[in-house]
Amino acid sequence: MTFAELNLIPELQRAVADEGYSEPTPIQSKAIPAVLERRDIMGCAQTGTGKTAGFTLPMLQLLAPYANTSPSPARHPVRALILTPTRELAAQVADSVRGYGKHLKLRSTVVYGGIDMTPQTKALREGVDILVATPGRLLDHVQQKSVALGQVEILVLDEADRMLDMGFLPDIRRILALLPAQRQSLLFSATFSEDIKKLANQMLRSPMMIEVARRNAPAELVDHQVYETPVAHKRALLAHLIRTRDMKQVLVFLRMKRDCNKLARELVRDGINATAIHSDRTQAEREQALSDFKEGRATVLVATDIAARGIDIEELPFVINYELPYTPEDYIHRIGRTGRAGLPGEAISLVCEDEHRLLVEVE
Ligand code: AMP
Repeated sequence: MTFAELNLIPELQRAVADEGYSEPTPIQSKAIPAVLERRDIMGCAQTGTGKTAGFTLPMLQLLAPYANTSPSPARHPVRALILTPTRELAAQVADSVRGYGKHLKLRSTVVYGGIDMTPQTKALREGVDILVATPGRLLDHVQQKSVALGQVEILVLDEADRMLDMGFLPDIRRILALLPAQRQSLLFSATFSEDIKKLANQMLRSPMMIEVARRNAPAELVDHQVYETPVAHKRALLAHLIRTRDMKQVLVFLRMKRDCNKLARELVRDGINATAIHSDRTQAEREQALSDFKEGRATVLVATDIAARGIDIEELPFVINYELPYTPEDYIHRIGRTGRAGLPGEAISLVCEDEHRLLVEVE
């Protein structure tokens, strides 16, 4: 599946290409057509699945006919409202909206608590087509009459389970009451608890259920191994493991993109077919590396965490951490590439002396 097959308008296809995405993630393939058909959605997905683009891209497409450069606030009423539980997520989603929407003349802004309201008020009064907000601060702005929500056509509740955990339900109800009844609603949640089901029943109309596998929960079928080694021996150990364990397809993670090509080259010199994927390579080079790996022409794919996000390689038997990542979340992302779909997998980490602190965090 390609983004073009999802019937995205050229402005969005261009933005997606600018981001370096070659194909939609599973949740994007499902959510984009459904949102474009103006269906309500109940999405069970967490961060790391590409869900943000899954709702932002089709939302931008539905709003594209409204794009205009008029300075009049009346020409920019809030038509899409995205609620998130935290400031960090709000800022991140707003960045995505800006990034994916950069070729469209739609205005967006973000409001959240903990900072001065004045610049937010100014932005709202000038008019925004897409508003990303945390619930409490949004209500403050509503109270001050700096924003009206009577023309909202699309509502997104992101990480709804966290919003409920944080006690935002009363605020959410107040906000729902300010929105037109006739609207499209998208609800995303990592879990599907009774409370979420209740909320979904109240706010969604014959929603399409979209569920994607948890990517950032450690797969139960993964066996974790650690080899303690001086850094100078890592490459020889890696080559030794690949040979003696007869690995046919292995994803090797490094922290820095500049080290990826070098390691791949050295492995090739050692007689092991290796290729590399990282953000300094061109889109064509990345696609080539990925298809070489998927189709078995390369035994080893050397990747950075960022490059590996969103690329879909199913059911790898081995993931090797040539270096441990800086955060345990990245470790979970990395090993999420193995032990999927009911097949066992092995996550092997080569750990040198100065990585012990990172190892403790992962453990
Ligand atoms: P999210 O789950 O929305 O937080 O996205 C997780 C990460 O995946 C973000 O860093 C996105 O930039 C990236 N991403 C989203 N869609 C794709 C895609 N189709 N291909 C590659 N990366 C993607």
